[in-house]
Amino acid sequence: MKRRAIVAGGSLGGLFAANLLRGLGWEVDVYEKVGDDLAARGAGIGTHTGLLAVLAGLGITLDERLGITAGDRVCVDPSGGELYRCPWAHTMSAWANVYRPLKDRFPKEHYHFNKSFASFSQGEKDIEVKFEDGSAAEGDLLIGADGLRSAVRAQLFPGLEPAYAGYVAWRSIVDENAISAATRRRLGREYWFVLPPGEMMLAYQVPSKDPVAEPGRRDWNYVWYRPVTDGELRDISTDASGRHHALGIPPPLLRADVTARIKDDARRLLAPQLAEIVERSQPFFQAIYDVESPRLASGRVVLLGDAAFVARPHVGMGVTKAALDAFCLSKSLEENDFQKALARYDSLRTEFGRRCVARARRLGAYIEARSRPGRAWTPEQLDQRPERVMNEVARALGDIPELAMEV
Ligand SMILES: Cc1cc2nc3c(=O)[nH]c(=O)nc-3n(C[C@H](O)[C@H](O)[C@H](O)COP(=O)(O)OP(=O)(O)OC[C@H]3O[C@@H](n4cnc5c(N)ncnc54)[C@H](O)[C@@H]3O)c2cc1C
Repeated sequence: MKRRAIVAGGSLGGLFAANLLRGLGWEVDVYEKVGDDLAARGAGIGTHTGLLAVLAGLGITLDERLGITAGDRVCVDPSGGELYRCPWAHTMSAWANVYRPLKDRFPKEHYHFNKSFASFSQGEKDIEVKFEDGSAAEGDLLIGADGLRSAVRAQLFPGLEPAYAGYVAWRSIVDENAISAATRRRLGREYWFVLPPGEMMLAYQVPSKDPVAEPGRRDWNYVWYRPVTDGELRDISTDASGRHHALGIPPPLLRADVTARIKDDARRLLAPQLAEIVERSQPFFQAIYDVESPRLASGRVVLLGDAAFVARPHVGMGVTKAALDAFCLSKSLEENDFQKALARYDSLRTEFGRRCVARARRLGAYIEARSRPGRAWTPEQLDQRPERVMNEVARALGDIPELAMEV
């Protein structure tokens, strides 16, 4: 009889797992909380070789004509003067380039929008999942791929909450045509860094959100990490009516004084060509969190992607980690009996996740230190020299010895 997997969360992690398990002959159903297509959600993503290999195994070739290979990494001071330059040539693809073929490859009738996982109960022979709308599903395995605020993780490990890192990422995407011609020439194709004390701002070109629908359109993407104390976070997460949004304020509800302040700060702290990108954008922010699950398999439940571990974005491999988690799970199930497979998955991916989180924490320590000055920070943690930061942020997976692990 066919084995049956229930996947909670239909973003990239869930879709990788769903497609790979179907390839092993499993029946798979994906249940996604939101009501419609997710293609417009993402921005650019770095294309690590591990990600490309998992996609290739599914018969998906990332169309590199739809990607952008950035030029050198360049760090500038607030006047625009060059401080440090290193060659890079990393290809940025669009989130939709990965989502679209994974979604199209999976049978529509087994992908269920508007279905929010609520709880599970497991016996020796199967697992039952209940959804918020009162419906239920049964299977052999539940895969929690439901992201940062995973409800599957919450049931497995009650009380385990994402830990706020002490800083936020201000970010946005700007159509390159919205930027003046002179600034566009100055920006070229480089991957820019500005490192105000205790901060990190980077900007690079990405393909448009849906490169298939809008071929050739390029955007500038920026991410600006800034220390923000708990009290300040509460303030910027409070809308004009006084309502506090603890799980993240929706961008349209950001107060005008908060976005005006970020644009003022950009003019003061960033090089003029980068300040112009911020000026032309509608900035929003995401608080940065660490999540570490104590283990990734328990009975008939596994966690993967951001539901399992969330590393600060400096490692630049959230999507690759999700793809490799799914690959490891399917390889383990292919080569072992059920319980041994889950044990193998648990031991390999828990260790990888821990190492990822530790590395990302190290890369962000100098930013966190600004909002938590009372802690004992070592000089190495506070080191924000451009050559250190620029050679480590979003480095290729194969060049990081501590992450070179069996999958
Ligand atoms: C500022 C920032 C920059 C980043 N930059 C990069 C980058 O350059 N490269 C990169 O690789 N990664 C990057 N990441 C990380 C990347 O976005 C994530 O690691 C990746 O999206 C993880 O995928 P996932 O499928 O595990 O989780 P998600 O994409 O978060 O998907 C979880 C899904 O589960 C659904 N869901 C939630 N609750 C339920 C429920 N109860 N029932 C059913 N469904 C549910 C959600 O709607 C969602 O679709 C960045 C992250 C941040 C914050």
